[in-house]
Amino acid sequence: MAAPLLPTTLVGSLPRPGWLATPESVRPDWRLEGALLAEGQDDAVLVALKLQEDLGLDIVTDGEQRRRHYIEGFTRGLEGFDYTILVEKRTRGDRYTAPVPTVAQPVVRRQPVLLAALQFARAHTTRRLKVTIPGPMTIADTSHDAYYHDERAFALAIADAINAEARELAAAGADVIQIDEPCFNIYLDKVEAWGIAALDRCLDGVAATTAVHVCYGYGTPAVLAWKQQNCDWSQYQRLLPLLRASRVQQVSLEFAAPGVDPAVLRLAGDKDVLYGCVDVSPAPAEPVAAVAARLRAALAHVPPERLYPCTDCGMAPLPRRLAEAKLAVLVAATRQVRAELTGGAPGHA
Ligand code: ZN
Repeated sequence: MAAPLLPTTLVGSLPRPGWLATPESVRPDWRLEGALLAEGQDDAVLVALKLQEDLGLDIVTDGEQRRRHYIEGFTRGLEGFDYTILVEKRTRGDRYTAPVPTVAQPVVRRQPVLLAALQFARAHTTRRLKVTIPGPMTIADTSHDAYYHDERAFALAIADAINAEARELAAAGADVIQIDEPCFNIYLDKVEAWGIAALDRCLDGVAATTAVHVCYGYGTPAVLAWKQQNCDWSQYQRLLPLLRASRVQQVSLEFAAPGVDPAVLRLAGDKDVLYGCVDVSPAPAEPVAAVAARLRAALAHVPPERLYPCTDCGMAPLPRRLAEAKLAVLVAATRQVRAELTGGAPGHA
């Protein structure tokens, strides 16, 4: 089936079912263990895929149902990150304090980390399938480097591990490989100095559509408080021209919650845009008309062939039914705007 105009997708994560993990948490505790946990995670992925298919999303993920947290769900599978030595660190441009793992030896990927999860999801959906991997700058920011003593060298070593992973995931049937780099919104000098080089290294030779997700974070109270007091979104003026020069094909950015003017997307060159037009805060889902209006605003600056309606960020910490409602609005708004573009009936994809 040919891809529809304005293919809908989500950033990556969905809430885990309450029977699998403590709900509405960024780092939930599993409620099962051992073989039962593995079985429960398989079941949760099936539910997540079915949900996305039923809602009508065009590009799906496994909802990151197996990952306790999007960063450590990857880094715990690598050699070099010691989670027995946690260090309190100021992260994300001094916005937050978090316990982070110590890196006291080289970062090495001895075996695949996300491959079995991809293979399971691939076997259970025919939709286009995306896998997300945390990016080098974000991982470095969320670690205590006691080995490299050079953030660029540390990040490039992480990028090598990500690249090996991404190549295998693409070869095993991932249609989209997305690198999650929220830190690209924060450390613009580092993005310019080595961030783009690290991103490009992640994606070198990856036989899939490639994307980078840059955001302000989950819709948690700490992030929402920061977003509400921030009124300077000028980093896009600098970030987008830098991303434009990278090899990445798609950029995923949030526009709903921060209310950023989509006119900045003109700076994204010919990249596809995963356009965050549904906020991921705990607030109720917005009316379809509000999201449709955002899509029309973006279409004034991005041609429809390059616009992918998307959520602002991951939905892991949200109540389950609320996340579903927000995705339903995303799809309904997209169908409405699609119909305007094609002259078809909004009920049809
Ligand atoms: Zn995000």
